[in-house]
Amino acid sequence: MLPDDIQVLERGWLSANTVLLRGDARGPVIVDTGYCSHASQTLVLIAGALGEELPREILNTHLHSDHCGGNAALQQRYSSPIRIPPGQFWAAKDWDESALSYRATGQECPRFIPTAALTPGEVYQQSGREWQIHAAPGHDPDAVLMFDPKSGVLIAGDALWEHGFGIVFPELDGEHAFEAVAASLDLIEALQPAVVIPGHGAPFSGLALALAEARSRLSFFKQQPERHAQHAAKALVMFHMLEHRRQPRDTLQHWQMSTPVHQAMWKRFFAPAQSLASWSEQVVEQLLAGGQLKAEGEVIRIAA
Ligand SMILES: [Zn+2]
Repeated sequence: MLPDDIQVLERGWLSANTVLLRGDARGPVIVDTGYCSHASQTLVLIAGALGEELPREILNTHLHSDHCGGNAALQQRYSSPIRIPPGQFWAAKDWDESALSYRATGQECPRFIPTAALTPGEVYQQSGREWQIHAAPGHDPDAVLMFDPKSGVLIAGDALWEHGFGIVFPELDGEHAFEAVAASLDLIEALQPAVVIPGHGAPFSGLALALAEARSRLSFFKQQPERHAQHAAKALVMFHMLEHRRQPRDTLQHWQMSTPVHQAMWKRFFAPAQSLASWSEQVVEQLLAGGQLKAEGEVIRIAA
């Protein structure tokens, strides 16, 4: 489905896909680097895939912790320059924790040094391909996607998955972003990619089906933004549990209640009818009822 020079390293959901763009005399390019707790696995996987080749550059579709968590380790190993979307360039350069998402989401990301911006409108040349860089706001206001017209391959980040798209983070803080999601889906439809490499999950080619599913989910969330927040709260807990695997129930609840984006969702959508504690508990209960999490006495663990 993919040309030989475009390779996807897919892992579990915690680490976003890493894409290798090869076949260029200057060296391969790495797009997105996974979550930091997988950093040593990322180094092994990339070294195994590249052999003697040294990456010439690392690119990020956006700066969420599961997309750039391996940047620091790779930069240390290979001294590769790192190019990121311009919107958060200075926040990353200065490592401004309040502007980057890691503190708000209760996630980790080791500091790396971005070298240049990857700017919408530019064409990124690699192995004879001319990757168009497009802005794809919605899930993240500063996200970009990469499209190669020659192969029809789209590197979509979290703007489009085979079944849905990433949490629309700005909406959780009361900023409007559902329209931006719709516009990014329209952009993807206009590009008509033959193959989509999503941020998570296997590459797929059924564009029309994926867009229909994403749009129906989007209209559901637009009509009931509190359901989007509930979904987001569950997704954040699952991300946290994928990282920690098992955690005492009260430690997990403490993490939820002290995580700024969780507090913001509660304030905006669930307070004062529910207390922060009872809503946090309900989120975990729904994951237990859905079978994504299991309880062993007072310990919550990820379902096998
Ligand atoms: Zn993301």
